[in-house]
Amino acid sequence: MRIYLDHNATAPLGAAARDAMLRALAHGGNPSSPHQEGRAARHAVTTARLQVARAVGVSERDAERCVVFTSGATEANRLMLSAATRLLVSAIEHPSVAGPARRRAATLIAVDPHGRLDLAALATALSRGAPGAWLSVIWGHNELGVIQDVAALRALTREHGARLHLDATQVLGRLPIDFAALGCDALSVSSHKIGGPQGAGALVLASGVGLSDEAAGHQERGRRPGTENVPALVGFGAACEALPARLAAMPAVAALRDRLLRGLSGWVQPVVSPAEVPTLPNTLSLRAPGVEAEGLVMALDLAGVAVSQGAACSSGSAEPSPSLLALGLDEGAAREVFRVSLGPETTAEDIEEAVRRIARVLGHIAGGGA
Ligand code: PMP
Repeated sequence: MRIYLDHNATAPLGAAARDAMLRALAHGGNPSSPHQEGRAARHAVTTARLQVARAVGVSERDAERCVVFTSGATEANRLMLSAATRLLVSAIEHPSVAGPARRRAATLIAVDPHGRLDLAALATALSRGAPGAWLSVIWGHNELGVIQDVAALRALTREHGARLHLDATQVLGRLPIDFAALGCDALSVSSHKIGGPQGAGALVLASGVGLSDEAAGHQERGRRPGTENVPALVGFGAACEALPARLAAMPAVAALRDRLLRGLSGWVQPVVSPAEVPTLPNTLSLRAPGVEAEGLVMALDLAGVAVSQGAACSSGSAEPSPSLLALGLDEGAAREVFRVSLGPETTAEDIEEAVRRIARVLGHIAGGGA
């Protein structure tokens, strides 16, 4: 039996999304065409937009204006960043934000050893001429699981006339999202972390937030170029429709996460502990002292357990995760960290068996067997 504990890389495609996509695949039509087939495709995209809007707390009335469909959160993040004249980001951003931020000499805001933004450092950076600036922050961290204090970030950015973008990719489907109540200016989400297909996502914009002309195109009200991927958007919408069940499962997911942590307590330490700071209910970043994560992930794969070394987007790179280094881990320690991420499909049996297999593999390595 395979045990899939890499939901933060991609969650399994849900039945609702799969069925909706199969139906959409049976129809053709370009949503920009005026004929019947085109209008049917447009209708499918509009329905998906309403479903996504509802999932993030955007009213039906605002859906067309506020929800910009993209190919995923990477593109949503980039679209948003291209709108910022001055940019501040945390030191633990996803590569889709960290890369452009580096190229644009963004101000990096440090984090504490738990991965929470240093609010004093943020206030200082914002006070240096913030009007027109954007702060872009990963709300729930894909590797570490840490959740940022959005209310504090919003208060500070407002106080200094800056705008706030949240990368909510790992938050959607793990915690409820109410865009209106959050009071942020923009938010990125992705379909394939919630049981939707890969290659679909959205940038959610508050009213009055414009995007740069660089991104302009004929679709999405002139804000994004390229014919819409109708079946993927339909799948994304259906996954959003199924979100209440996913959210309802999260307390059980958190209990399984804690069970895994208890079961492995003799072998690993959490890098960010759910007992100490708010974290995503499904994510654990674990360090096995003396064991290189690269080899461990491969050995676990052979043992039938899928986990990852950092993010899927950066695993395979020889460099240790910049997010782990930003927490203050040295390179050696950072190379010993692997990530386990659960989902609503994860069962108690999966976790019991995963604990047995992970402990066996670690025992084997500690005994000099790998
Ligand atoms: N931001 C975060 C926090 C992520 O976890 C991911 C996915 N690894 C992305 C952005 C990119 O999302 P996508 O795969 O939809 O481009």
